[in-house]
Amino acid sequence: MRGLMMDRPLMISQIIEFAAMNFPDQEIVSRTAEGELHRYTYPEAAKRSRQLAKALQALGVQPEDRIGTIAWNTYRHLEIYYASSGMGAICHTMNPRLPADQLIYIVNHAKDRFIFVDTTFLPLLEKLHQHFPDVEGFVVMTDEAHMPETTLPRVHCYETLLKAQDDDYRWPEFDEHTASSMCYTSGTTGNPKGVVYSHRSTVLHAMMVLSISGVPINEDSSILPVVPMFHVNAWGVPYFGLIAGAKLVFPGPKLDGPSLAELIEGEGVTDAWGVPTVWLGLLGHMRQTGSKFTTLKRTLIGGSAAPRAMIAEFREKHGVEAIQGWGMTEMSPLGTVSIPRPSMRGNWDKELEIRGKQGRLVFGVEMKIVDSNGQPLPHDGRSQGELLVRGNAVVSGYYDNPEANAKAFDSEGWFRTGDVSTIDPDGFMEIVDRVKDVIKSGGEWISSIDLENEAVAHPELAECAVIGVSHKKWAERPLLIAVREQGSNVTREDVLKFLEGRIAKWWLPDDVVFVDELPHGATGKLQKAKLRDQFKDYSLPTE
Ligand code: ADP
Repeated sequence: MRGLMMDRPLMISQIIEFAAMNFPDQEIVSRTAEGELHRYTYPEAAKRSRQLAKALQALGVQPEDRIGTIAWNTYRHLEIYYASSGMGAICHTMNPRLPADQLIYIVNHAKDRFIFVDTTFLPLLEKLHQHFPDVEGFVVMTDEAHMPETTLPRVHCYETLLKAQDDDYRWPEFDEHTASSMCYTSGTTGNPKGVVYSHRSTVLHAMMVLSISGVPINEDSSILPVVPMFHVNAWGVPYFGLIAGAKLVFPGPKLDGPSLAELIEGEGVTDAWGVPTVWLGLLGHMRQTGSKFTTLKRTLIGGSAAPRAMIAEFREKHGVEAIQGWGMTEMSPLGTVSIPRPSMRGNWDKELEIRGKQGRLVFGVEMKIVDSNGQPLPHDGRSQGELLVRGNAVVSGYYDNPEANAKAFDSEGWFRTGDVSTIDPDGFMEIVDRVKDVIKSGGEWISSIDLENEAVAHPELAECAVIGVSHKKWAERPLLIAVREQGSNVTREDVLKFLEGRIAKWWLPDDVVFVDELPHGATGKLQKAKLRDQFKDYSLPTE
């Protein structure tokens, strides 16, 4: 017997209309590309999104057309999210820090018809636009007063387009499996791969995040998504934030420590979401100025491993709960969050151990670890294997990319994450490493992430990376590449001494190299491939 319930499609447009009706005075605050703070309410956001949908129609945009964005986290970007997806088009967010050849590839591969761009990134498009033969026009996300001179052809002004429309618009209803947005993941090799979200997966993912019991988000929350809206839809904040009725605080272009601290205090931010790199900057600023957060309750840290030292500093210096999350662009992105179970709380050292793991599943995601033959491994906290996932908001295939799709799934249709991990009997998953970053020493594996975690706890080291360097006897041995804190003269011997006793003896790096800076990719992650290339001929003193 079939259930006798209505079959209502899950639509992104429902979110903004629901939010406007239920939370009529809730605020959305943005630092604009021009630097000022802009604020308005949910109903104004909904009204302008409807106007923008009409403006897109007036430009000739049809359902399924791709609308590119190269933009900061601001209210206008939010309006593009809702207007383009809501009218049935596809919002294709792009990372402006991608190398030019990759940006050119994704604009053409996605077949973007229009591109919305913040003034900051106009020079970038002025250089690249001749490589975009199919792009019909560019919309500069500003008003007439701030419209810059530009050599970009076929340019429109965002506010002028909006002004020409009223908001008498009804969002269309269509199949919930229709594509709503796209985001390309940049692999370390080969071209970026397109992930295509649907209305259904987007709404479900938002509800999944709101179902995490240890992350309460509601009308009293003020959320700062530092994670960019060009990176997996800012981890869903623009969707679940509105469902929950939270105040949204968009940081625009200013992501440095002092600017973030000012915004957090000024706007009463309670929850901030972002990658470890931005928190390094923020915590550094708080240390230097001796300031404390007065409103911040929680940070959600993901994208790469959150060092235990960072989780501890948030808690011990600021009383802020730092929650590690793990996910991927292919997973919309959230897969797990690390919140200790009640029975695990009380002893902070033990809690920190748990918080250092990537965590337990979010409802709607399943995971398994398998050995090299694809056989499932036990959840004993020790067995390491490749992590595979499936779920309602996990990719079933990359956009127009049979080659990548042939490799991405196992015979049962689970998605290969490329991460090596363990799962303990309490369900906590811990990433050991990326499959390609793990150091293979004499047939055993050394986790570069664990080593980095321990090394960065040294008070005089600002950032660390560990890579495997080839070794005649052991195949590979770890090399620690570190950035000293400003003014520090810490030596190789100091660092090795510090690590002794903290890690297994045979894990001790064979050498320590100090550099001024480590290479970061477009989403702030360490670029280990670059480091491996840079140090490929490095001869270890232990050879
Ligand atoms: P995102 O950066 O949003 O998580 P990406 O698709 O760019 O998404 O990268 C996904 C990869 O990032 C994961 O497969 C994993 O290797 C790494 N990653 C994400 N979160 C964590 C985390 N908390 N700890 C360790 N690695 C992580």
